[in-house]
Amino acid sequence: MIASLEQAARTASKNFMTDREDKKARVLIADDDEQIRDVLHELLSETYECFEVNSGEEALETIGRETFDLVLSDIMMGGITGLEMVPQVLEQSPDTVVIMISGEQNIESAIDALRAGAFDYITKPFDLQHVEAAVRRALEHQELRRSKRYYENFLEEMVKQRTAELDKANQTLRVLIEASPLAIFVLDEKKNVILWNPAAEQTFGWSKIEVLNKPLPIIPEDRREDFEKGFADTLQGRAIANYEAYHQKKDGSLVDVNIWTTRLLNPDGEVNGVMAIVADITERKQAEEKIHYLAYNDTLTGLPNRVSFEERLNEALTRGESSQQPLAVMFLSLDRFKKFNDTLGHIIGDQLLRSVSERLSTAVREGDAIARFASDEFAFLLTRARTADDAAEMAQKFQNILEAPFKVDDQELYVTASIGIGLYPHDAVDAQGLLKNAGAALYRAKQQGGSNFQFYTADMNERALKRLSLENQLRSAIERKEFKVYYQPQVNITTGQIVGMEALVRWQHPEMGLVSPAEFIPLAEDTGLIAPIGELVLRSACAQTKSWHDCGFNSLRVAVNLSPRQFQQPDLLLMIETTLKETGLRPESLELEVTESSVMKNTESAIKTLSELKSMGIKISIDDFGSGYSSLGYLKHLPIDVLKIDQSFVRDMTTAPNDAAIVMAIIQLAHSLQLKVTAEGVETEDQLRFLRLLRCDEMQGYLFCRPVPVEAFEQLLIEGRSLGTMKTASVSPVI
Ligand code: C2E
Ligand code: MG
Ligand code: MG
Repeated sequence: MIASLEQAARTASKNFMTDREDKKARVLIADDDEQIRDVLHELLSETYECFEVNSGEEALETIGRETFDLVLSDIMMGGITGLEMVPQVLEQSPDTVVIMISGEQNIESAIDALRAGAFDYITKPFDLQHVEAAVRRALEHQELRRSKRYYENFLEEMVKQRTAELDKANQTLRVLIEASPLAIFVLDEKKNVILWNPAAEQTFGWSKIEVLNKPLPIIPEDRREDFEKGFADTLQGRAIANYEAYHQKKDGSLVDVNIWTTRLLNPDGEVNGVMAIVADITERKQAEEKIHYLAYNDTLTGLPNRVSFEERLNEALTRGESSQQPLAVMFLSLDRFKKFNDTLGHIIGDQLLRSVSERLSTAVREGDAIARFASDEFAFLLTRARTADDAAEMAQKFQNILEAPFKVDDQELYVTASIGIGLYPHDAVDAQGLLKNAGAALYRAKQQGGSNFQFYTADMNERALKRLSLENQLRSAIERKEFKVYYQPQVNITTGQIVGMEALVRWQHPEMGLVSPAEFIPLAEDTGLIAPIGELVLRSACAQTKSWHDCGFNSLRVAVNLSPRQFQQPDLLLMIETTLKETGLRPESLELEVTESSVMKNTESAIKTLSELKSMGIKISIDDFGSGYSSLGYLKHLPIDVLKIDQSFVRDMTTAPNDAAIVMAIIQLAHSLQLKVTAEGVETEDQLRFLRLLRCDEMQGYLFCRPVPVEAFEQLLIEGRSLGTMKTASVSPVI
C-alpha cells in the first residue's frame, strides 16, 4: 500500500510540475497611483502576466473572479486600505501571496500587514532590482505552498479512498460475519458482548438483543474460572487460540464447542476486545464418544471390554502403588455355557449372557469394575478386597447371585460359575501378571469341576510342574506295584473290640518315600488314574479281609473309600461284583465310603447306585459327614448304613461347644434314622469319653491306632487288642 501511495504521489507531482510549466504566474498590481502601476507593469510583464486595479475594492472584486499568484498592493489607497485587504485576499484565495508597497512614513502599517498574512513589503521609492527579487521570492514561496497544499489534498484524497475501501472491506466482513455458519461474538474489555452473529443466536439460543452490551451468558458455572483466565490471557495475547470446551445454551443444555479466540486491536494498536469464533462440535463429539464406546465396550452386554478393563486396572494399580492398597482381580466363567449355546441356540445363549451380566453388575460396588472378556468370561476389579477373605466373600456373593434361575424365552435356566482370584500385591504387582494369575486360578476352579472359586498362589506354577511329574510317576506306579494298602482299626466303643478296618492307600515312592493319599488321590481323580488304583485297593482289601476271615477273624468288616469320580464310573457295580466273586469276600463284610458331595452331585443316579450296592448286601457309609454344604434333610432318602463324623468336629468337640452340639446332633439324627455312627480322628481319652456318653457306635483314630501295614494289623488281631487293653499294648508303626 505504501508503495502504491508513493507511486501515486510521484504521478501527482509530475502532473503538478507540467501544470506549472506552460503557465506564467499571474500578478495583480493594486495602486491608486497610475505612475507606480505603470512602472511595476513595465518591470514585471515580461516575466509575468500582469493585471492592474486602482483600489482595494476593485482588487478584491477581481480576486473573487480570477485566480492570481501574487498581489502587489499599495498600503494606502483611497477606500479600503491594503492592511484591511490582506486577510480578505487570503480568505478568498489562500494560495495567493501578497506583497505590500509602503512609503517610509507608514512602515509600521507594513509590518502590521505582514502580521495579517502578507508575505513581504517593498518601500517606496523602489529599487527595481529589489522589487524583482521580492516578487520572485514571493512567487517561489507561493509555488512551494501550492505544491504542499496539492500534496495535502492528494493525501486527503488518498485517505478518503482508503477509508472508502476499508468501509467496503468492513461491509464485506459484516456480511461474512452475518452469513457465517460459525458462531462469532466479540466482547469488549469489560467482557460485555458487542457483536453476536446469527449463528451465535442459533448455537446458543440467545438472541442478539438479549445479549448485546451484557455479560456473556453462555459460560457454565464450572467453567467460569477457565473463562476468566482465558479472557485475560487472550487480552494479553498469550492465550491458546484454539481449544475445545463446552458452553451452555439458553435452555440450560450444554454444547460441545471448538473455540478460536483472538484479541482485537483498535487503529492505534490498543487492545479493545476479544473475538471468538465457535464451532458446534456436539455431533462430532457424539461420534467420537460412539467410537470410544465401541472401542471400550462389549456390544452384546454393554459392559466394558478387556481394553477398558485393563486401563481401569492399570489406573487402580498406579494409585495402589503409592498407597499400597491391596486389591483383587477376579475371572468368572459360567460352567458348561457351551452346552447352553449348543443345545438352546445362540440367541438364547446371548440373552442368558445379557441377563447374567445384568445380575453381576448389580453386585459390583462403586469404584469396582466389571467387564466381559470373552464369550462367558467376566472380569472384576475389586478395589475393596483388602484380604483373601474379602475376595472370597465377593466370589461367594457372585456365585449366590447367579443361583436363582434365569428366565430366558419362557425357560428357566440354572447356571453356576467358576471363579479365579488374583490378589495385588500378593500374587503379582502388574496388570498382566494379575490377569494371568486370575486366569490360572480360574482354570484350577474349572478343573475342580466348576461351581467353586480358587485363589492363585505364587507357588501354583511350581505345583503345576510338580503335579505334572507326579502324574507321570503315578502312571508307572501302578505297574511297579508301588501302592500299598494300610489298615486302620475301627473299634466298637461299647465293647472295645476291633470290628473292622478302613483300607487307606499308600504310595511307596522310590525317592519321595510314602506319599500321602491327600496328595495323589485328587490327581488320580483328575487324570482318571483313580479307576485302576481304586480297583487295586478294593481287590487287595477284599482279598486281605477274606484271608483274615479264613484265619478265624470272620466277623471283620473292611471299609473302602470310593472317590467321587469312582462313584460315577459306569462299570462300578460290575467291577465290585467281580472283585467280591474273585476274592470270595461276603458282600456284608464290605463297606463302601462315599462322600456327601459324591452323592449330592447327581442325587438320583447316586441313590440308584447306592440302592443297587445295598441290594447286593454291601454296606454304605457317608465319609467326612458334616464337612459338605448339603442339608441333613436328604439323609433319610439315602440307602445308607453308617455316618462317619468328620474329624474336624471330633477334634474340637471337647473345647468348642458348637462342635460338641453338631456331633451330638449328628449322632441323634443318625440313630433316629437307624444308622450307625463312626467317629473319625479320635485322638484323646476326653474325646472318647464324650463319644461314649453320646452313644456313638464306633471310633477310629490315632488314640487306638494309626493306619498300619498288613503285618502290624495282624499283630493287633492276634494280640486281641481292644480299647480296654490298649494302654498296655505296644504301639504300632505309624506313617
Ligand atoms: P478319609 O477317608 O477320611 O480317611 C481318614 C483319614 O484320617 C486318613 O488319612 C487317616 O490316616 C486319618 N486319620 C485317622 N485317624 C486320625 C487321627 O486320630 N488324627 C488325624 N489327624 N488323622 C487321622 P489318609 O490316610 O491320609 O487319607 C486321606 C484321605 O485320602 C482319606 O480320608 C480318603 O478320603 C482318601 N483315601 C485314602 N485312601 C484311599 C483310597 O484307597 N481310595 C480313595 N478313593 N480315597 C482314599
Ligand atoms: Mg474314609
Ligand atoms: Mg473321613
